[in-house]
Amino acid sequence: MNEESVFENLLQMIERYRQGYRKGKFVEYHEPAELKEILQLDGPGREGDWDEIFNWVGKYLDYSVKTSHPGFVNRMWTGANLPSVVGEIVAAVTNTSACTYESAPVSTLLEKYMFNQMAEVVGFERAEGQMTTGSSNANMIAMMVARNHALRDVKREGLFGQRKIFGFVGSDAHYSMDKAANILGLGTDQLIKVPLNDRGEMELRELEQLLEKVHSSGDRAFFVAATAGTTVRGAYDSIEPVLQLRSKYGFWLHVDGAWGGAAVLSPLLKKKFLAGLEQADSFTCDFHKMLGAALMCNILLINNKNNAFGTALSAGDGSYLFRDEDENMVEDLGVTSLQCGRRVDSLKWFLDWKFFGRRGLGDRVEKYLELCRYAESVVHDDPRLELVVPRTSFNICFRYRVAASRNNDFNYELRSRLYKQGKSLVGIAYIDGKLVLRLLITNPLAVKEDVDAFFSELLRTGDELQRQIGG
Ligand SMILES: *Cc1c(COP(=O)(O)O)cnc(C)c1O
Repeated sequence: MNEESVFENLLQMIERYRQGYRKGKFVEYHEPAELKEILQLDGPGREGDWDEIFNWVGKYLDYSVKTSHPGFVNRMWTGANLPSVVGEIVAAVTNTSACTYESAPVSTLLEKYMFNQMAEVVGFERAEGQMTTGSSNANMIAMMVARNHALRDVKREGLFGQRKIFGFVGSDAHYSMDKAANILGLGTDQLIKVPLNDRGEMELRELEQLLEKVHSSGDRAFFVAATAGTTVRGAYDSIEPVLQLRSKYGFWLHVDGAWGGAAVLSPLLKKKFLAGLEQADSFTCDFHKMLGAALMCNILLINNKNNAFGTALSAGDGSYLFRDEDENMVEDLGVTSLQCGRRVDSLKWFLDWKFFGRRGLGDRVEKYLELCRYAESVVHDDPRLELVVPRTSFNICFRYRVAASRNNDFNYELRSRLYKQGKSLVGIAYIDGKLVLRLLITNPLAVKEDVDAFFSELLRTGDELQRQIGG
């Protein structure tokens, strides 16, 4: 094979893969040592040989997890939307960095266009921000902008000699919040975990008491994050009551919608889950989770803060790279980025947006919620299964019922069997020490029959396991 036929070959391989990626096992599972043997990473081969390259590509495809498979219900994403896959291929072929207009004119405009589209959907009137590498980093950037907004001189002086500041998140908030507190020099002790109510949402009275405590000891509450869809339970912290607390304590209200922020695209669900969002100070949403764009694809929006984003993020001398705004009449996105090189994430998102439309994506989120209701009813109707906590949105936390002392081990083993047999991969998490199986539905092709198939295989394997090792 020579260079001329590389793409033709590649596309054929991809097409063969695509035709089979919803069928059979979702993974050809091997233990790491065995897989190493199969892959022969040191293996023979000549440099500069395209047949060798395609041999590796073939192995990669054969032994990877087929995330488009209906049995893959493990993560917050599945196989990507086709238009965004096209976008990824084109972004790779054209290989540029989305940091300047000079080197990435189309992508710069696409990103700004999508940014404005999302600001409008969310309801932010004068938005700043940008696409980031994911919500972990978006949460950190939001916390940083809030920090610099609260401590005006911190950019120059650092935290030395500053008044102590505290952030607040629900105790089920994403772990990236702790990382952010660490990275930003606040220290995780200054990130207070607010106890939750029985729906998994921040207990607002507790939040108020904690805010009052910090306030009355002369320190400052600078940041509160409401999670819109917690990672394990799918709980939505209410935004409106936190807005009232904000007017009293003057903190920055960030909404982490990495997972459940996708509800913003459905007017119905926006009202149900995100009331008050348009008055928050910042919002992040991962397009690569419920909405199906190829990984990674994220937006961070800052609301009406008069260049707080630019003030916090710009630093150092980038004059070798960035041109004055008036030369190209457009601001270089790299100026306010954490990175210098920036991957082109806008194209895939833009293509999804044009293909499915705002309405189509909103309908998709509504359909997922419908399927979650259905899955909940399946758990409810089968005496062998139980919900460990009530479903409040998109996450179904359940388990196979066995004697209390064996519950965790049994469900762990059940999940592991399903995985190693290539049947399904469902998430696990612990809630109050109880192991739960966390079912997430994010496959755009998912239908009720897939939910049925998932549970019937799980029940069959669970029954078999119980016969073998006893419940
Ligand atoms: C997934 C998730 C994150 C992290 O997002 P990444 O894009 O994976 O970095 C943050 N917060 C919540 C609530 C999440 O579910």
